[in-house]
Amino acid sequence: MTHWQNLLARSITTPEQLGRHFDLDFSALRGVSEQFPMRINPYYLGLIKTPGDPLWRQAVPDPRELEDTICLTDPLDEENRSPVENLVHTYPDRVLFLVTNQCAMYCRFCTRKRKVGTSRMLVSRQTMESAFAYLRKNKQIRDVLISGGDPLLLSDETLAWLLDNLRAIPSIQIIRIGSRVPCTLPMRITTRLAGILKRYHPLYLNTHFNHPDEVTPEAAKACARLAGAGIPLGSQTVLLKGVNDNAATITELMHRLLMIRVKPYYLFQADMTLGANHFRTRVETGIGIMQSLIGHTSGLAVPTFAIDAPGGGGKIPLTPNYLTSLGKTVTLKNYLGAPCGYHNDLD
Ligand SMILES: *Cc1c(COP(=O)(O)O)cnc(C)c1O
Ligand code: SF4
Repeated sequence: MTHWQNLLARSITTPEQLGRHFDLDFSALRGVSEQFPMRINPYYLGLIKTPGDPLWRQAVPDPRELEDTICLTDPLDEENRSPVENLVHTYPDRVLFLVTNQCAMYCRFCTRKRKVGTSRMLVSRQTMESAFAYLRKNKQIRDVLISGGDPLLLSDETLAWLLDNLRAIPSIQIIRIGSRVPCTLPMRITTRLAGILKRYHPLYLNTHFNHPDEVTPEAAKACARLAGAGIPLGSQTVLLKGVNDNAATITELMHRLLMIRVKPYYLFQADMTLGANHFRTRVETGIGIMQSLIGHTSGLAVPTFAIDAPGGGGKIPLTPNYLTSLGKTVTLKNYLGAPCGYHNDLD
């Protein structure tokens, strides 16, 4: 067993283990962790400072997960958009390819909490072969986003096999890996792994950080290895109530990501996922946060704020409104609210 596999094997997966660690009684959480799996590996556990803090909220089951009556099991309608198992084809030119049901931690707000870490999601060489056949046949697909679960929980060998197969399909121009491992288990990013990944360029890696406390020296080392292998790094962040739903936290996170060579990509409104209703914030909160970023900090630090449309309509960007009128003259206001005009009287 490698170091990261050993860490993973020592994860907390039951309320009893959690209770022993924090010296508290968590037996009330048993129903929750039976419905939605828990996995808190020793690395991420070590980042939690105190019960109820922003990292705790992402990792520890909450009784409210079973009280949700508003949200949807499959908010993005992924199951109906899967022409073959574990492949979601929403946009014509790109697909989401789910290659494992395992994650280094099971985030309580996960969009796929209906199935990650459970037998409700099964990936096998056979489902992957069906996806390769679909990708070979549908030549308009030029971008494959590998996700899960977390693709980097696959062994080095399986990952290389998967990437070999994708690279053998000429119509695929770019491969993207969506992985939370640089945040939740950065020890997985070994020099051996970086050496494998660099064989498949152009390959992009999009990770997922939600709080400045997650940007640790270990995460920095993992990202330096990936960037050193020539892999452009992006990150998505989910706006989560009680975790990061204010301008100061998001601004600090964006700055810290840039310091570890990760470019903020999306800031997502939390999906309407069954069992995650208590994490949702009002859309106005996100727009206000964007307003406090745009112009006030480097453009590099500004992600695209988006809602992934319930029902599977795709990602819809939301931007604060800087346009006050649109006609022969355009009137605008800048990030400080100062008005400005632009002559638009052109053919
Ligand atoms: C997010 C997503 C993509 C990729 O979208 P980008 O905006 O290109 O990053 C592709 N397919 C599905 C189903 C997705 O959810
Ligand atoms: S790492 Fe990603 S896929 Fe896995 S539980 Fe967290 S949000 Fe879901």
